[in-house]
Amino acid sequence: MIQRIPGVRGAQAYLHRSAEGIAVIDPGYTGSFRAVLHFLDEHAPGAIDWVILTHHHIDHAGAALALCQATGARLAVHRDDAPYLQSGRPRDRMTLWGLAERLPARLASYVISTAVGESRLLDDGDVIAGLTVVHGPGHTPGSICLYSESESALFLGDVLNNERGIRTPPWNVNHWHRRARLAPRRLEGLRFEQAHFGHGPSILTGADQGIRAFLTRRGLLPAPVMGQP
Ligand SMILES: [Zn+2]
Ligand SMILES: [Zn+2]
Repeated sequence: MIQRIPGVRGAQAYLHRSAEGIAVIDPGYTGSFRAVLHFLDEHAPGAIDWVILTHHHIDHAGAALALCQATGARLAVHRDDAPYLQSGRPRDRMTLWGLAERLPARLASYVISTAVGESRLLDDGDVIAGLTVVHGPGHTPGSICLYSESESALFLGDVLNNERGIRTPPWNVNHWHRRARLAPRRLEGLRFEQAHFGHGPSILTGADQGIRAFLTRRGLLPAPVMGQP
C-alpha cells in the first residue's frame, strides 16, 4: 500500500508498506516532522522500519533524523549522497534552496553521523523494504528512484518532477546538469502503473508510458519505427 503523507513541507512524503517492511520515503523539510509523526501514529503506529531518502536535499531529508529518533526506524540513503549528510559535507550547487549552505551546525552534523552504525548505504539494484534502488546520478551524486514491484509503482524523488508536466529539474538545482538530463534513461526498462514524484501530482495509471513518451521527446530513446512491434 502507498499513502501520500499530508501536511509535509518541501518535497512530498510517502508511506510504502510491503511484506518486506514499512518505509517512509523523503519525510520533507525539518518542520514537517510533526505532520509525519502524526500521520504515522494514526496509520502505522509504532511500526516503521526505514526512512529512505531519494537524495540528500534538505526539502526531502530535513525531518529524517528526528523521525528516525522518534520511531526507531533506520535511515537509508545512497552511498554517494551520504557524505552530504555528515558534518564537513562537500559544497553542493543547490542555489535555489540557498538554505542548504546555511544549515545550523547541529543540523549539518545530523543524519548519518548521529545514526552511525545504524544507517544503510544503498547501491544500485539493492532491495530494501520491497523497494528496488535505481541509481540515477545527476541531480545529486546519489539520487535514486525506488521501484515497487508489488505496487507497480515508481518513486522518482527529483530524478523527474511533474510540476508542469514531466521534466528534469532545472540547471540551478542540479549537481551535474548534463547527467541529470540523462538520468531518466535508467527508467527505460521498468514497467509500472504509478509514478510518485518529489514535486507535482502522482500519475496513477500508465505512468511508464508517460515517462517513455518524455524520454522519446527528449531524444533519450530511439523513436519507435512504424510497423514494428
Ligand atoms: Zn526536491
Ligand atoms: Zn532535490
